[in-house]
Amino acid sequence: MIDRTDGKARRAAPLIDAFGRRISYLRLSVTDRCDLRCAYCMSERPAFLPKSDILTLEELEAVARAFIARGVRKIRLTGGEPLARRNVMSLIEGLSQYLLDGALDELTLTTNGTQLEKYAGALADAGVRRLNVSLDTLDRAKFAAIARRDALDRVLAGIDAAQAAGLKIKINTVALKDRNLDEIPALIEWAHQRRMDLTLIEVMPLGEVEEDRQDQFAPLSEVRRSLEARWTLVADDFRTGGPAHYVTVRETGGRIGFITPLTANFCDGCNRVRVTCSGELYMCLGQQRRVDLKSALRDGGEDAVSRALDEAMARKPLGHDFKAANPAAGAVPRFMAATGG
Ligand code: SAM
Ligand code: SF4
Repeated sequence: MIDRTDGKARRAAPLIDAFGRRISYLRLSVTDRCDLRCAYCMSERPAFLPKSDILTLEELEAVARAFIARGVRKIRLTGGEPLARRNVMSLIEGLSQYLLDGALDELTLTTNGTQLEKYAGALADAGVRRLNVSLDTLDRAKFAAIARRDALDRVLAGIDAAQAAGLKIKINTVALKDRNLDEIPALIEWAHQRRMDLTLIEVMPLGEVEEDRQDQFAPLSEVRRSLEARWTLVADDFRTGGPAHYVTVRETGGRIGFITPLTANFCDGCNRVRVTCSGELYMCLGQQRRVDLKSALRDGGEDAVSRALDEAMARKPLGHDFKAANPAAGAVPRFMAATGG
């Protein structure tokens, strides 16, 4: 039960799944819209959800509150592009109250950075301390080809603004065969010079895009070998509670993370679930099982959401079915922008 007598979420039973994994991390998608069209993420003309299906900002906060009441300590807002949602700061400011009263350890975002110049100061004021910014290339023409929009300058200005506001940034880079592999060392050098860690991500078969997944997929094991030929990579036991494995580059002093869902399964220690902007709770990024929190909230309020979370815990799968031997295997029809990356 959630006791909200003074408007604050009070702690109830923690969320523990059937495999004994405690869920303490929520990734909450606040919109499926985006101002970019990254070729591995969405099609040029995505079928966005009708507005009536999308949770209001108040409903998103109510869902977050239900998770906080069940022991979730970290929330990452994502999308689509979270900063493209109108009035998103009202949600962020609402959630920042839980940072202040100690119910939440961290509130963070994954963003493409295009709007950071506008929002960096307000995010820092709301208690956001760290951001993940996605950036696959430093070459303007390549950026325009990958993201299908000419926005590199805005992203770089956004990163400058965020650093000036004191936000700690981690860069996320998707390794794309024939697109950015040759540039990865330069990206890492650039990031490390600016005191930013960089995490490399394997393309996952999420949603049908115009390109063949086989033509996009590059195994990070190969990328890592080429980096090892250039630098000394020292194994690092740094963990963020996420799926990335980290190394420190002795020559630069910065970290590289590797997220390898296809070549190495990371599900054993999974501590997270995802909620889409339409209130569907996905217990695993790579599986279709879901629980409808929107209906629970609209029909029964936050108590009904809490009961739905118990159902979700009983149904959280052990892991995903992505396979490196066949980058389209285990494919799920949902786009990353729908589930929230
Ligand atoms: N728009 C924001 C951004 O780009 O950071 C947040 C949402 S985006 C879906 C979150 C992350 O998912 C990004 O780092 C993006 O590169 C990654 N991503 C999107 N589609 C992917 C896919 N099919 N495989 C692997 N990563 C993907
Ligand atoms: Fe938009 Fe992020 Fe998907 Fe790129 S990866 S299209 S920025 S949601």
